Amino acid sequence: MERFADLQILRYRVPGFEELTKRQKTLVYCLAEAALWGRDILFDQNGRFNLRVRRTLEAIYTNFRGDRDGDDFKSMVVYLKRVWFSSGIHHHYGAKKFVPAFSPDFLRAAMLAIDSHTLPLAEGQTAAELFDLLSPVIFDPDVMPKRMNQAEGEDLLLTSACNYYDGVTQREAERFYDAMKDPADTTPPSFGLNSRLVKEADGTLRERVWRVGGLYTEAIEKIVYWLKRAGEVAENPAQREVIATLARYYETGDLHGFDTYSILWVDDLQSRVDFVNGFIETYGDPLGLKASWESLVDFKDIEGTRRTETISAHAQWFEDHSPVAPAFKKERVKGVSAKVIIAALLAGDLYPATAIGINLPNANWIRATHGSKSVSIGNITAAYQDAARGNGFNEEFVYGDEEKRLIERYGNLTDNLHTDLHECLGHGSGKLLPGVDPDALKAYGATIEEARADLFGLYYIADAKLVELGLLPSPEAYKAQYYTYLMNGLMTQLVRIQPGHDVEEAHERNRQLIARWVFRKGEPEQALELVRRDGKTYLRVHDYPRLRQLFGELLAEIQRIKSTGDYDAARRLVEEYAVKVDPGLHAEMLARYRKLDLAPYKGFVNPRYELVKNDAGEVVDVAIGYDESYTEQMLRYSRDYSPLPSVN
Ligand code: ZN
Repeated sequence: MERFADLQILRYRVPGFEELTKRQKTLVYCLAEAALWGRDILFDQNGRFNLRVRRTLEAIYTNFRGDRDGDDFKSMVVYLKRVWFSSGIHHHYGAKKFVPAFSPDFLRAAMLAIDSHTLPLAEGQTAAELFDLLSPVIFDPDVMPKRMNQAEGEDLLLTSACNYYDGVTQREAERFYDAMKDPADTTPPSFGLNSRLVKEADGTLRERVWRVGGLYTEAIEKIVYWLKRAGEVAENPAQREVIATLARYYETGDLHGFDTYSILWVDDLQSRVDFVNGFIETYGDPLGLKASWESLVDFKDIEGTRRTETISAHAQWFEDHSPVAPAFKKERVKGVSAKVIIAALLAGDLYPATAIGINLPNANWIRATHGSKSVSIGNITAAYQDAARGNGFNEEFVYGDEEKRLIERYGNLTDNLHTDLHECLGHGSGKLLPGVDPDALKAYGATIEEARADLFGLYYIADAKLVELGLLPSPEAYKAQYYTYLMNGLMTQLVRIQPGHDVEEAHERNRQLIARWVFRKGEPEQALELVRRDGKTYLRVHDYPRLRQLFGELLAEIQRIKSTGDYDAARRLVEEYAVKVDPGLHAEMLARYRKLDLAPYKGFVNPRYELVKNDAGEVVDVAIGYDESYTEQMLRYSRDYSPLPSVN
């Protein structure tokens, strides 16, 4: 499908949708509506001008009668597509503001040329005034340069453009939330998760809670309406209770209610259809407290689930045999529910770019006492693998025929298995020592947690147990994963980073941390090396079993850091291995990658669901369609599902 900037748009299929019952399809439909109505929330969370920028550009796209073939208009369209993709003016992954290729003069002329009623004007505001307001936001590189700043030593809130705090310094926010913590509370709510923290004119701090009657009420009311409709066609009483509890939480904003919902949700394993809808992940907040809005509607992939069920059934064996110190292991690994799901709709922070697996809920005490629900999204993984086949990437970056053969034969399989191990076992393994603050690692927490889960997967993918369980066909299959993982972490993921920039995103940091640490230890003893051939750098691996030992050593250390809340060690590891980039290698990767003409980031168009009614107006079926283009879909969502005011 289509390409622009560093992005490629793909389409995913929803195999098995037709085989769902009419009731299940109707449930998917209602949950999809609940998902689509939240779209505006994320735009506003990502920056307070985002809705105005999006609506202004959409108005021009739809109504501009000037030169639509000119470079300025075409560049504006690319910029608008990027704004849609990122739910705002900052890159969805790197968090830097992207640079428009059209001119301020063009924007001003276009805004003045179209009917001003189509622009998101405030009361009494003129189109020229709106232009003056938005122009620096769009064009000035020094205004809101980053959605999220993580640079050590700076005030992370005052230097971040995300809309989670208003006029609040990092110190003030940390104090505000530290004061809420009760060390004796073994079931603490996720303080700060569902609100914006605002400093009032008199200097006091106040949370504006995202709930019915609160901030974002216009969108949340719609979500609640469709959740209630979904509840009417729930598959069973347990699922109906899950949905009702979530609706109540949206109505009250009470974080204890969110925990109640999360527990009911994690316990509901019987329903075929499932969903996520809410303020879930905190990657977008520099302090890791406030959650971006997202939604996923899905149903169980019965065939694909067999693989993960096998892993989960042996969870205790994996925990017991890991190289982690006994004090940091769970005596009993509970509730690792493993399944493969089929995504039916992606929304909010999962759209158009999405994860290929999820593991929720995030609250540590719920995970410890009730377990977690861990899924990999089979149809999304398949769409990625289809897109990657034969694109020339491995031919360019993989060292030799032997490695290519391994990857060809075992690459997809071991990728899937590594994701399963990461999600089903990795995140759920290990324990915090008594009294250790789950947030002790602060800004380094996300990177360390992802490294922990990845290492668990890397360590075990080479274990004979997987062949014994029938999950891998050969004891050498794991080499495909080791090679591609290290090649990615050492070299090829740099293609996602702009020249001169650091590695910022938690998953990328984690992969570089692991790869560089293992390289530092393994290279002097010739377990692996980077070689030059025809002026190009390649990874060579000489001793795969030794790599496994090194992954195990690092897993033990990372688990120790997590279990004991060793902030200093987390900071040292991340800052030393995960952040900085070798400029020469970086430039080489970018040059080689550019020649392939591939997009480093991918996102997805959703299918379109429509109710099929009979002459009496009764719903007889839900139709699924795959005919919508990226632009058509985004414009439709903005037209039909955009309840928030431009200023929130
Ligand atoms: Zn993870």
